[in-house]
Amino acid sequence: MKVPKSKKKFNTIMRVMTVCIIVWLLAWIVATILYASVIPAIAGAITSCLFAIILAEFYYSGVQFVCPDCNIGFVPKRADLMKSIHFKRGRKFTCPTCGKEVVAIESFRGDEED
Ligand SMILES: [Zn+2]
Repeated sequence: MKVPKSKKKFNTIMRVMTVCIIVWLLAWIVATILYASVIPAIAGAITSCLFAIILAEFYYSGVQFVCPDCNIGFVPKRADLMKSIHFKRGRKFTCPTCGKEVVAIESFRGDEED
């Protein structure tokens, strides 16, 4: 999936995709209860995981982090991003430029900051 050029569009897509995954998962939970069967539960879990992976991949391709100490943006490795602790304004990373452990500020990778 192509990352849009504007931050607003990116955030909207992220929100819509998250809501869709939640609704999708809820629909499967309801189906599991209604049919008293594990098949919808399994199907829901598998498809929701796939959507979550797509969402995570989309998020990864659209964000970068800015070190508050040296002000240089960087893109962490996928594994580091998944493991990183989430803070109010960003995530904890070791800055690749200054080597300090900082709470890097999340920012959009595209060029338009609207
Ligand atoms: Zn730094």
